[in-house]
Amino acid sequence: MTEIIKVAVLRPLWNTYDYKIPADLDVPGKGARVRVPFGPASAVGVVVGKSMASNYDLKPIDAVLDVEPIFSNDLMKLGEWMASYYHHPIGSVFETFLPAFARRGKQPDLSVEQNWNVVGSSSPPEFKNAVRQKEVWEFLKGFGPISDTELAANKIPRAVLKALLKKGWVEAHEAVDESHRESSDLSLTSEQSVAVRTVLDTMGRYSTHLLEGVTGSGKTEVYLRVLEQVLARGQQALVLVPEISLTPQTTDRFERRFPDVHSLHSMVPDGKRFNTWAKCGKGMVSVLVGTRSSVFTPFKDLGVIVVDEEHDASFKQTESLRYSARDVAVMRARELGIPCILGSATPSLESVSNCEKGLYSRSRLSHRPGTAEMPEFHVHDIRGQVLTSGMSEPLLQNIEKHLKSNGQVLILINRRGYSPSFFCTECGWRARCESCEVNLVWHEIPVPGLHCHHCLRRVPRPTTCPECHSSLLTPRGAGTQRVEATLRERFPTEPIYRVDRDEIKTHRQMSNLYRKLRDSSNGILIGTQMLAKGHHFPNVTLVAVLSADGGFLSTDFRGPERTAQLIVQVAGRAGRAERRGEVWIQSYDPDNPNLQSLVEHGYPGFLSSEMALRREARVPPFSHWAVIRAAGQVVDETVAFIKRIMDAVPESGVGKMGPVAAPIERIDNRFRFQGVVHSTSRQSLRRALASIERERTKSKRIRWSIDVDPTEIL
Ligand code: ADP
Ligand code: ZN
Ligand code: ZN
Repeated sequence: MTEIIKVAVLRPLWNTYDYKIPADLDVPGKGARVRVPFGPASAVGVVVGKSMASNYDLKPIDAVLDVEPIFSNDLMKLGEWMASYYHHPIGSVFETFLPAFARRGKQPDLSVEQNWNVVGSSSPPEFKNAVRQKEVWEFLKGFGPISDTELAANKIPRAVLKALLKKGWVEAHEAVDESHRESSDLSLTSEQSVAVRTVLDTMGRYSTHLLEGVTGSGKTEVYLRVLEQVLARGQQALVLVPEISLTPQTTDRFERRFPDVHSLHSMVPDGKRFNTWAKCGKGMVSVLVGTRSSVFTPFKDLGVIVVDEEHDASFKQTESLRYSARDVAVMRARELGIPCILGSATPSLESVSNCEKGLYSRSRLSHRPGTAEMPEFHVHDIRGQVLTSGMSEPLLQNIEKHLKSNGQVLILINRRGYSPSFFCTECGWRARCESCEVNLVWHEIPVPGLHCHHCLRRVPRPTTCPECHSSLLTPRGAGTQRVEATLRERFPTEPIYRVDRDEIKTHRQMSNLYRKLRDSSNGILIGTQMLAKGHHFPNVTLVAVLSADGGFLSTDFRGPERTAQLIVQVAGRAGRAERRGEVWIQSYDPDNPNLQSLVEHGYPGFLSSEMALRREARVPPFSHWAVIRAAGQVVDETVAFIKRIMDAVPESGVGKMGPVAAPIERIDNRFRFQGVVHSTSRQSLRRALASIERERTKSKRIRWSIDVDPTEIL
C-alpha cells in the first residue's frame, strides 16, 4: 500500500494537505521537509503526520528534503498549539519557525569552524606558477593560525585553501578557543543562592520562575550558575534576549564561561543563521543566545530556557504571526518538561500575576552586590515653569552642576526629530501628513524637512503658511534633535551624543559610543528608549526624564506600565558603587498616584498600585483580550467588514467592544478600525475566535488580523 502523508505547505493556509509517496522515495518522518506540487508550481512543506485517506487522486511528493526530521517533536506540537492559540494558518506558523534558507529547501552546512595553519615552519614549498597559492601560504605563515571566519573576511578563496590542503602544505584543525574561558569564583549572595537553588530543585520537570532584580543585582550570574548545571548534565540551554541588548557584552559573558556558545539576531546573515539553527538541532551548540525568533530553534536535548528582560516589548511580534516569544518559551518549557526562568528588573504585570496565582515561583534580588545603591528619585513639578526645549531652568542648572563635578548626564526624551509639530502662529494651521492622520515631525537630520513617522513620507518645510500665507511658522515641542541643539548652545565645550534611530543604526555604533562614555568622565547623552536597554553607563550621575505625563495618562491601559518600566530601566543604567545617582522626572501632574508610588516605593510600589487599577478595570492580566484589526481604503467598507466579523463572534462567555477607529485612524491612506473580544476565560475566548476562522473571511480590499494578547492597542 502506498504511504500517504499530511503536509503543512509553507503558505498562508489553514489546512494541511495529503500527498502520496512514490515507490522510489523513502517515507519522510514527521518534522521533515518535503517538496510538493502545489498549484501550477512546487512548494516546500513540513510533514505533520501520516494520513488515513485513500490515495485515489492524490498527487505524489516531488522530493524528500530531510532524511532526518529537521523539527523536533516538541516543535511540531508547539506549531499546532500556536496555530490554534493565535488563530493563524498552520502553513504560516511553520514558515515562521524556519530560517529563510530552510524555507527555500536548502541544506545547512554543519561543518565546525576550522583554524588553518601552514605545515611545519620550514622554507616555502615549490609553488611554480601557482601565484595565488603562494600568496595564501605566505599569509597563513605570517598570521596563522587563522579561522574560517577571518579567512572569509580577508576574501581568501576556499578553493585555494583546499588545493594547499591536498598538497599537505597547510593543515586545518577544529577551532577550540579555551584561552579566555573563566570559571566563576564569586560567592553568591544569599538571595542569589536561593534563586539558583529554586530553579535547580525543579531540574528535569516543567516550572517557571520569575527572577526579579534591579539592573546589576546579579541576575545574569544566576543564569550562568543554572546553565553550568544544565551543561554538566549534557544538556543545552536557550537564552532569549531583547533585540537591542544583543551586544557583544551580553554574549561575551556566556562565551567566557562556556564552550560552543552561539548567537542569533537580526544581523546574522541567512546562511549562518540556518547553520546555527540546524547545529542546535544536532546538539552541536551548548548555549544559544538569541532574540525573539530563536524560541523556534530545534534542540537535541534542551535543559532550560531563560528569557532575560521578560517585560521587553521586542519579544512580541507585531505583524503576521503575532506571538509573544516569552509566552511561547513558557509553553515550550512545559511541552519539554524543563524549567524556564523569566528575569527582569521591571517584570510585566502578566508575569507577576502568574506568580500571585501560584503558577510561577518568584525570587527577588533586592540589592546590588557590594555597596552600589539605587539612584534617588525626584519628581520635578514644572507647572508654571518656562521650558527651553522641554527643560526647566532648575533642571538646566542641575545638569550644569553635575557636569562641573565630573558626572555625565543622561536625558531621556521618547521622541525623535527636532519638533513633533510645525504650525502657523497667525491662523493655527498645522503641518499634517497627506496620507496619515498625524502631525508631521520637523527634522534637521538626516534631511531637513517635515517627516511622517508612519508612512515615511518627507516633504520640504514650507516658508509661508499654505492657508494664510503668513511667514510666522514655528516648531512646537521638542524632540531629541532640538534638545541636542539647545544643550550644544548652553554647554559648547561639552561632548554631546544623541541616541535615536536616526543616529544609531548598528550594535557596533552603540558599543563604540558606550566605550567612549565609559572611558571619560564628562558628556551628555540624549536619547529615546534605546537608552533603556543593554548598556550600563557607570559615570552617569544624573538621569533626567523630560516628560512622564504622556505615558502615565495614555489612553492605552499599558501606557503607565511601559512608562514606569522605561524610567526604572533608564535609571538602572546609571551610576556605580561610589557615586549614587539622581533621577529627575519632570511632570505637570506631580501628584499622579502611579508616579507617586513609583518614586516613593520603586517599581514594586508601582506594581501594586497599578495591579489594583487593572483589577478594577478588568483589563489584562485580569481578563484575556484579542484585538481584531482591519485596514481598507474606503471607510464604510472597512467598518462594515469589521462589524461583520464582530457580529459573527458568539456572545457566550465573551464581551465585545467596537468596532471603533484605531488611535491613528489612517496610515498610508488606509483607514483603520478595530474591535476587542475579551473574556475572563481563555477557553471561551478561544472558542469565540475560532468561529471567525470558520467564516473564512477573505477580502482582497481589506487587510485584517487577529492579535491575541495584544501589547499595544494601536
Ligand atoms: P544583572 O544581570 O542583574 O544586571 P549581573 O549578573 O550582570 O547583574 O551582575 C552585575 C555585576 O555584579 C557583574 O559585574 C557581576 O560580575 C557582579 N556580581 C554578580 N553577582 C555577584 C556576587 N555574588 N558577588 C560579587 N559580584 C557579583
Ligand atoms: Zn496661517
Ligand atoms: Zn504619513
